[in-house]
Amino acid sequence: MSLLVTGSIGIDSVITPQGRARDVLGGSATYFSFAASLFTRVRLVAVVGDDFPAAFRDVLALADVDLAGLETRAGSKTFRWAGEYSPDMNERDTLDIQLNVLAEAGPKIPRAFADSDVVFLANTHPVLQRELLGQVNSPRLSVCDTMDCWIENEPDELRKTLAAVDGVIINDGEARDLTGRVNLVSAGEAILALGPRFAVIKKGEHGAMLVTGDSVTTIPAFPIAEVRDPTGAGDSFAGGMLGYLDHGGQQDTAALRRALLRGTVAASFTIEDFSLNRLRSVGPEELERRVKDFVDMLRIE
Ligand code: AMP
Repeated sequence: MSLLVTGSIGIDSVITPQGRARDVLGGSATYFSFAASLFTRVRLVAVVGDDFPAAFRDVLALADVDLAGLETRAGSKTFRWAGEYSPDMNERDTLDIQLNVLAEAGPKIPRAFADSDVVFLANTHPVLQRELLGQVNSPRLSVCDTMDCWIENEPDELRKTLAAVDGVIINDGEARDLTGRVNLVSAGEAILALGPRFAVIKKGEHGAMLVTGDSVTTIPAFPIAEVRDPTGAGDSFAGGMLGYLDHGGQQDTAALRRALLRGTVAASFTIEDFSLNRLRSVGPEELERRVKDFVDMLRIE
């Protein structure tokens, strides 16, 4: 039982209709790790600059996360991202992005992490995703994310990465861009034709869809009355899903469906407040209570 994540750790500034947060802890690997650590111990591989605040390091240390793969690169600056959400929070504009250390050489997987069972490659250059995956001996499950700029600018490299992983977790717009298919069931099937044996397509407030070789499952989002900041929902979703799968050890369709529930619920906590403010206050019991409420809500005779 060991789950490795590679991805970004950053300093975010976010504006939503519910307020704003300046210079807060963010990044795909951060949200993923907090969600996954509700189920299993996470091995985090990422790189920050020497300006990374000590207080953020303390926050990361609070989660059940092994930070041996967190490199602090001397003379480099931490990744920064700023975004603003539309009034309905379904769209967001990037106001500023400073790749800084993310534009340099990628991190290395520590030798002690090479035996990881489950690997999540958060969004980054598809060549780097493959290099990182290649440093893990024989994971029983590997999953990747991607984003619009790689779909547009590095389609061939992205295809090679997709051919190397077992699963993909991406959002609906990316699935359509990647496959050229508007219908999401069809887009999911087209992703499977590229290599993965399952695709999870996230649809924001409309939930998510799991497509495997012989099944399609849709799940709504858990309803939240006051969404304060959707940032990190997708990465928390992936963390909840893969944390659950790593802990349970199974990866058949029934297990993937149960994992879909956990991912959905993990994301529902993240969006209740800015940065990690809500998610970091959640424990496994509170998460499972919400999973139970969700299952009760979905059970329609
Ligand atoms: P999500 O809302 O799940 O897409 O995750 C948002 C997080 O991803 C934010 O905390 C950002 O710091 C991080 N992020 C945004 N753009 C990038 C990028 N180009 N590369 C890596 N991480 C990013």
